[in-house]
Amino acid sequence: MTQQQFVIVGGGLAGATAAEQLRESGFDGQIHLFAAEGHNPYIRPPLSKGYLAGGEGRDSIFVHPESWYREHEIVLATGQTATALGDHTLTLDSGREVPFDRLLLATGATPRRLDLPASDARGIHYLRTVEDSESLRAELEPGGRNIVFVGAGWIGLELAAAARTFGNTVTVVGPESVPLAGPLGEELGTMFQHLHESQGVTFRLNTQVTGFEEAQGRLAAVVTDGVNAIDDVIPADLVVVGIGAIPDIALAESAGLEVDNGILVDAHLATSATDVFAAGDVANAYHPAVRQRMRNEHWANAIAGGKVAARAMLGEDAVLDDIPYFYTDQYDLGMEYSGYPPLTKDAHIVYRGDRDKREFVAFWVASGRVVAGMNVNVWDVNDQVQDLIRSGRTVDEAQLSDTSVALDAL
Ligand SMILES: Cc1cc2nc3c(=O)[nH]c(=O)nc-3n(C[C@H](O)[C@H](O)[C@H](O)COP(=O)(O)OP(=O)(O)OC[C@H]3O[C@@H](n4cnc5c(N)ncnc54)[C@H](O)[C@@H]3O)c2cc1C
Repeated sequence: MTQQQFVIVGGGLAGATAAEQLRESGFDGQIHLFAAEGHNPYIRPPLSKGYLAGGEGRDSIFVHPESWYREHEIVLATGQTATALGDHTLTLDSGREVPFDRLLLATGATPRRLDLPASDARGIHYLRTVEDSESLRAELEPGGRNIVFVGAGWIGLELAAAARTFGNTVTVVGPESVPLAGPLGEELGTMFQHLHESQGVTFRLNTQVTGFEEAQGRLAAVVTDGVNAIDDVIPADLVVVGIGAIPDIALAESAGLEVDNGILVDAHLATSATDVFAAGDVANAYHPAVRQRMRNEHWANAIAGGKVAARAMLGEDAVLDDIPYFYTDQYDLGMEYSGYPPLTKDAHIVYRGDRDKREFVAFWVASGRVVAGMNVNVWDVNDQVQDLIRSGRTVDEAQLSDTSVALDAL
């Protein structure tokens, strides 16, 4: 009998985790992993945190050491982009055709780009790859520069923290009235705003960027629709744009797979095409707990999705039903968030701990049940938070907010 051949497109965390799970589950056929970037698969969170700040070295960002691929007989081809997907055949940019029995699309996402006057000026940066992070570090590290962050989301704020730590002047511009109001709501978004303001960051909120100004072939200023003529133009030596990411669906779309805000997959991560699966940032997956599709651009989702996709490729009845999880580090604030964003819309927040000291757990409670939780500078509670969410049990809010009542007891 000929060996089965499984192919993974995309050398990020989801792709590398799927390869690992295939071997862990006993798959002894061939595994080919094609990665467009010229690196072995690596993780991205450190690119805006420890790796950017210089505390973590390059070796620490790789999912597996070099030798791991050989030891597990994974044929890893870096610097190779898949350009077409046909019936059980993948075509690479070299023209090579690769047959497959099952295929995983783990192509991730790319930063949403601005298309405004002078938005290609030298000095405007985006962050997705290790090269982006290294060139940003070279710009931020000397300090003393005027840096404007376009976008008041997670990436913008993490980078603002790094830029301040290096001693730069930092302005964050965004159209929302409160940073992170979308994912966290106004109250907690304001807490993040105050944290940054206490570190010297200036916010220009309710503000749209309308273009850029150049001088001597380099970025000189950010132009906004500010409230008066003086505020319209913000001098800038450097701009970093963090306005979200777009799922990399080109290959799937050209192959006629169903796509809508990512590649549409069921709870087993199967796409609309036979023997083709998708995982990680690119997958818009049906989640049984919320009975709708969600696309989660998070590290934990890439791991969980990579594992489920691998098991589903092997014919197991694997389902992606993990509670979405996310973390961030900014200055001395560390937090973890677990929960179902679609269910927090009608929820109110119950706090447990000391909000003034930024040491607390926030619970989003809807119809008496915890649907999300965020622990801020409080550690080793995320498992309990997830247990509470998963249990679906009605909670006593007085007990929930009472630190003398163990979370386990709830
Ligand atoms: C700066 C930064 C900070 C982050 N911080 C956090 C954090 O603190 N917490 C958190 O939970 N998440 C964070 N994330 C998100 C997290 O990194 C992503 O969710 C995760 O990387 C998704 O993994 P993935 O494998 O799906 O996609 P990716 O990591 O994007 O990998 C996909 C790979 O596929 C390749 N590819 C695309 N098309 C092709 C093709 N046709 N052929 C071959 N290869 C292809 C791409 O080049 C890419 O290398 C951060 C992301 C960034 C960029």
